[in-house]
Amino acid sequence: MTTKRIAIAGFQHETNCFGVTKAGLHEFEMADSWPGMLHDGQVISDTEGMNLPIAGFAAAAKEVGFEVIPVLWCSAEPSAHVTDHAFETICEMMLNGIRDAGHIDGVYLDLHGAMVTESFADGEGEILRRVREAVGPEVPVVASLDLHANVSSEMVEHADYLSIFRTYPHLDMAETGARCVPILQRLIAGETLSKAFQPVPYLIPLHAQHTGSALFNEIYQMPVRFERQEILAEIALGFTAADFPDTGPSCVVYASTAQKAAAVAEEIVTLFISRETDLDCSMLSLVEAVSTCRQKRKKPVVLADVQDNAGAGGTSDTTGLLAALIEGGTKNVLMGLFHDPESAKQAHEAGEGALVELAIGAKSGLAGQISVRAEFEVLALGDGTCRYTGEMYGGGVATLGKTAALRLVGQEAEIDLVVTSLRNQCLDRAHFTHIGLTPESYSVICVKSTAHFRADFEPIARDVFAVSSPGAFLCDLERISYKCVARRLPNTCNASTCRQK
Ligand SMILES: [Zn+2]
Repeated sequence: MTTKRIAIAGFQHETNCFGVTKAGLHEFEMADSWPGMLHDGQVISDTEGMNLPIAGFAAAAKEVGFEVIPVLWCSAEPSAHVTDHAFETICEMMLNGIRDAGHIDGVYLDLHGAMVTESFADGEGEILRRVREAVGPEVPVVASLDLHANVSSEMVEHADYLSIFRTYPHLDMAETGARCVPILQRLIAGETLSKAFQPVPYLIPLHAQHTGSALFNEIYQMPVRFERQEILAEIALGFTAADFPDTGPSCVVYASTAQKAAAVAEEIVTLFISRETDLDCSMLSLVEAVSTCRQKRKKPVVLADVQDNAGAGGTSDTTGLLAALIEGGTKNVLMGLFHDPESAKQAHEAGEGALVELAIGAKSGLAGQISVRAEFEVLALGDGTCRYTGEMYGGGVATLGKTAALRLVGQEAEIDLVVTSLRNQCLDRAHFTHIGLTPESYSVICVKSTAHFRADFEPIARDVFAVSSPGAFLCDLERISYKCVARRLPNTCNASTCRQK
């Protein structure tokens, strides 16, 4: 048997249509919470061992003896739309690489599934359409998608198989990439998979999507159960800030017949509908958040500033929670990560141990935000190279830019916080420990993250609460002015818990 040649490429963006800044080519070239743009052999060497879909695919492909032709991999921190220039440039590099690969037996793409560009509402649908056009109908094309993919019928049509993460926090990214390998083998061997695609009729806010909950634990048992019947069931929960007609949860099912696939898709969507009222969309108001910090606990309480998550296109510089905790005189608080290059620069100029007047946050231009002006002691400075230690990203490196650990002084409240020069989601304890701060020693830990922080912070926390504070990533879906989204809000979110401010 001749060695099968597989072209692989990755182009990831999760688009928050309500974000402040767009993703241009530079954002895809630079390193952030993930590596910078990788070409050719770097795609494999610089992602090896990481929890990334393409790394999982490459490792599994090697094991089965595929010859992998790495083309390109890039991602940008979630933000507003991908610019046309970035999209066209990157697509061209990918397509040229695939064409230049010579004879290929298959294509694997590492995509997100919630990319919106200036010109294409369905970024991944367009990427898959172009790749399909380039390789023709006979060459199998498979892709892995994020759990937050807003799957469209175009994506389903142009790919022979889509694998989708089954965890949030995303602990199974590499595993999801690897899942494409045996399917690709079957497709290359000539098997055809019948598809069924079915949307779930309501949106699910991201803070209610974490798969550690009983509800999603049950839902994600379905793919495992169907796998025993040789049926591939893939479920996406959707990304609510991409304003696109296909935004929302859905399932894609692959089976030996269209009838079987459709029946399983129907069963999955029926489960979503029957469990709709079990969604936990609750958030604490700022008043409640400050109040819960007063309770004595043996371990820290984690307050998640869910609407200012850089990893969902938030600016990571809103000050609502910080201001409320200062006003409440809250003790022994740790906060991160504030995207504030200006304050980081001032702290670096002042030096460790210095006292500086800073205006923290509100630099991104998000409407209605005001900086918190106060005096801070510079506890520590860092160059922003942070090696992750948590389960989700362990083995990878975060690039934070110039970083500073700061302590509020001259106030009743006791607050230490980390400011960075590049926008990163606070999801790993290393974001604090790399600069000398020990999260376990605080009573309150505030993270600008929606759910990924749970993987590394839940083990040290007594309680975890989502807090409703201003941000560019609204989890209170009733407040979003959608133009294109077709699905309705979940019934449970009409409850007052979702409307607390
Ligand atoms: Zn995601």
